[in-house]
Amino acid sequence: MTKAPHIFRKKWGQNFLRDPNTISKIINCLQPCPSDSILEIGPGDGALTDHLSKQANEVYVVEIDPLLVTNLNNKRYLNVIIHEGDILNWDLNQSKNEVKIIGNLPYYISSPILFKLLAWKNWERMILMFQKELAQRIISKHGNKSYGRISVMCQVYCYVKIEFIVSKNVFQPKPEVDSAVLTFFPKYGELPNFTKFSNLVKQAFSQRRKKLKNNLTDTYKLGKIEKWADKRPEEISPDEFIQIYNMIFVG
Ligand code: SAM
Repeated sequence: MTKAPHIFRKKWGQNFLRDPNTISKIINCLQPCPSDSILEIGPGDGALTDHLSKQANEVYVVEIDPLLVTNLNNKRYLNVIIHEGDILNWDLNQSKNEVKIIGNLPYYISSPILFKLLAWKNWERMILMFQKELAQRIISKHGNKSYGRISVMCQVYCYVKIEFIVSKNVFQPKPEVDSAVLTFFPKYGELPNFTKFSNLVKQAFSQRRKKLKNNLTDTYKLGKIEKWADKRPEEISPDEFIQIYNMIFVG
């Protein structure tokens, strides 16, 4: 019996990788080893999973589409633990070991997924694909138009670098824009409390065109951010945001 073709769900950001060369390049960035535990977000029809299952000890995958989960189960991988569900509701602590994370992320929730992974921290390396424009915002430096909350959050908690651009032509169905693959390594040491820092940065960027003293009014009144009071949030580097956090919360 011939298998019915998969109906692509646009609402779930389904653009599947079809180019073996691109797939190999992404897998090479992860550098999977036999002892690794890997978490893959949105495996789709297994373009990356097929390779991961051959190279790693165990692979956890989280996929929202029940039809794709059935297809993945039919592949009878021996070391792939397949979960059906929404990654945003999934308890990441189900994987006990420190993991490597990989994902060609569904574009409609790339940012919330990234924030969830940043807050979790129990990973040693992440290889994630984003729409190119979001990838550029993530690695953007202060002073640039594309620099914002997501740049600060990623650069404070991670070393992040762009690996390569992926043409929209290597996907089925073809998306409207190109993508980019980024590698993240966690930063260790004394870092700000994630929730407090995230709230601070969110408030600082609440009105991009306004000066910090207008976005952080209460803190300004307490005399804690005079040095940066007349700067706009996009002019403040990740290190300076840490200094601001320390002025407010550490004293
Ligand atoms: N990894 C495959 C590939 O590269 O060909 C598919 C990538 S496709 C861009 C994104 C995948 O994420 C789809 O399989 C989609 O069904 C799945 N997905 C979408 N929203 C999800 C969610 N909230 N939680 C888990 N998976 C999700």
